[in-house]
Amino acid sequence: MSDVALAVDIGGTKILVGLVAADGTIIESEQAPTPAREGPDAIIATVVRLAENVRRPGVTRCGVGTAGIVGEDGEITSATDHLANWAGTPLRQRLTEALGMPVTVLNDVQAVGLCETLLGAAKGKRSALLLALGTGVGGAIARNGMVERGTHGIAGSIGHHLSPIRRGRRCPCGGTDHLEAYASGTAMEEEYRTRTGRDARLREIATLAQSGDSDANTVIAEAAEVLGAVIGSANNVVDAEIVVMGGGVLALGDMLLVPARAAAKREALGASKAVEIVPAQFGPRACLIGAGLAALTAA
Ligand SMILES: [Zn+2]
Repeated sequence: MSDVALAVDIGGTKILVGLVAADGTIIESEQAPTPAREGPDAIIATVVRLAENVRRPGVTRCGVGTAGIVGEDGEITSATDHLANWAGTPLRQRLTEALGMPVTVLNDVQAVGLCETLLGAAKGKRSALLLALGTGVGGAIARNGMVERGTHGIAGSIGHHLSPIRRGRRCPCGGTDHLEAYASGTAMEEEYRTRTGRDARLREIATLAQSGDSDANTVIAEAAEVLGAVIGSANNVVDAEIVVMGGGVLALGDMLLVPARAAAKREALGASKAVEIVPAQFGPRACLIGAGLAALTAA
């Protein structure tokens, strides 16, 4: 089963472990809640327990997509406080020992980027800029079927690009006025609460916007403007052939995409004004699939 890899997705709320084939098929998978507050030992024990359930003889490689920035040796160099003590974990070393097979570790959004570039919306393109818009905003850059890590594993982290709108909003990374502080689902829900005093989830805000609620429309329009402007200016650095956006925030559809495309085009240079900005083709399983593909392409 050399064309099948053990794949692991370590997220803030759940851990997913499966067998992934080279064509992206998930042959089998199991999941468990992430013991986020219990520290790295508990997370690694959960991965190993799920892996024992799904692994088969002949599967000799493992790929991992994980929350946090991943260093050159597959160690977690930084992570949000949501996963207690996750930063500093030598993840590749720990899992290689525990699973008894070579392990490739990459950041979760970089794994999503690999999935989309090899099999999804950016398939056949020489380069892509990928964004994952959910509770946070992640990003990845792919070139020639590979995801760029950069010097410190940070390449593509578009969520921490400065926003053109500066209201002093805190970003979960500790910075101020980054894209994530305006265009994540969490940020939009917070902004709606600030404006109206009412709690609403993103889907509700979308419904309210469609029925003419001006605050809901403003929140979405502002997020789309910031998102598009950052994409346009960031892609002047990356010069990607296509921009792919995935994640729960894409449920906003054209309410987000149409104004974001216009803002991106406004900021883009020359021929990159024509760059397509398209929704991702894979959903919540993209990280698991990308992790498996990372192991298979490393072989
Ligand atoms: Zn930030």
